[in-house]
Amino acid sequence: PQVAMIPVSALLKEVVLLTESEALMKGCEINFYPLQEDMIISGDIKQMKQVVLNMIRNAMEAITEKIDDSIGRIELGASREGAEVRIFISDNGKGMDICTLDRLFSPFFTTKENGTGLGLSVSDRIIKNHGGCISVSSRINEGTRFVISLPLIQ
Ligand code: ADP
Ligand code: MG
Repeated sequence: PQVAMIPVSALLKEVVLLTESEALMKGCEINFYPLQEDMIISGDIKQMKQVVLNMIRNAMEAITEKIDDSIGRIELGASREGAEVRIFISDNGKGMDICTLDRLFSPFFTTKENGTGLGLSVSDRIIKNHGGCISVSSRINEGTRFVISLPLIQ
């Protein structure tokens, strides 16, 4: 892994650019909240991008799989909490039941016909290797919010 200083806002903006057109085609809006202050984390930029990208892809899929026809919304942003940054990815997709929430980070757990079930287990490993953690809250038919906490530089 290549360790570097990563500005959080640049990281998130880049992932938005990568996913925006795909989201629009699927009828989802991505709302990116500009950060109040710039924050720097240390780590492997490719791995970090992969984590956020995985979560946005999961959010788009959760929106596509929802049965009603409300407008799909994904919210992305970050704020500082003491010596940590909290990056959030929220969606108003199909949400998860308790059984899914319990097994979310297990390798090969998927509810999708063509899913690999690897996105979140790999993401969890990457974030732990960077000294952070992932938390999740979800309501069935309402949506899901993932929060990635990571130590800040300085
Ligand atoms: P995959 O996307 O290949 O299924 P993941 O590890 O990325 O594997 O996700 C595992 C499972 O967690 C998904 O199959 C889905 O059931 C659930 N999940 C993940 N993110 C969301 C989300 N934003 N909304 C609803 N369910 C989700
Ligand atoms: Mg996935």
